[in-house]
Amino acid sequence: MLTSEQPIQRLLADLPTGVTLVAVSKGVSAERIRAAVTAGATDLGENRVQEALSKMPALQDLNVRWHLIGRLQGNKIRRAVEAFDWIHSVESLDQAADISRVAEELGKRQKVLIQVNVSGETTKGGLSPEAAWAVLPALGRLPGLDLRGVMTIAPQADDPETVRPMFRSLREFAEKATDQRWPGVVLKTLSMGMSGDYQVALAEGATMIRLGRAVFGPRTQT
Ligand SMILES: *Cc1c(COP(=O)(O)O)cnc(C)c1O
Repeated sequence: MLTSEQPIQRLLADLPTGVTLVAVSKGVSAERIRAAVTAGATDLGENRVQEALSKMPALQDLNVRWHLIGRLQGNKIRRAVEAFDWIHSVESLDQAADISRVAEELGKRQKVLIQVNVSGETTKGGLSPEAAWAVLPALGRLPGLDLRGVMTIAPQADDPETVRPMFRSLREFAEKATDQRWPGVVLKTLSMGMSGDYQVALAEGATMIRLGRAVFGPRTQT
């Protein structure tokens, strides 16, 4: 079947080796998600558990990894662990312990990232760098977790250069934490960069970029 060219094809062609493009499909229909996967998308990101669960049945035949990139409420932890390959938005030790316990019950090790709020914006989720540092040794010991790294959401900026220091400080945070050699704490994955700022994030060492509008075009809602 012939399909029209999709932005994802060019994005994937330009992607540096070792970087994963997470196509953020919030607000996008299952049909359009399928077209992006046909065009090469391997990883899909959703920010709401409920919305993701409503689309997954129609896409079950696809070989993709699902990433939860939005806030995770306590009452949705079980469903999230069942459905998602990666959870990028861990933001407390209690929550991490709950995820670990559910994952163990399900016989899985849940890949997670700690969301670090490097901008200090109070509207963003995540732990402050100081708080994240304090909980990392305990997080590394949780048996149901496969702690892979850190995630951040930079503030919206007209000039992406203004957020470069935040991406850099996230990378330095991860490197310093890994240097501590706390058991289970090897923070290799840096999930940073969205449609407006991913080029700067890549220059600062992102290993996962989360692109919504660049892949699917402007969103009408969400
Ligand atoms: C929506 C969203 C994205 C993608 O944003 P775009 O600007 O559309 O690329 C990335 N990360 C998170 C956490 C999001 O909620």
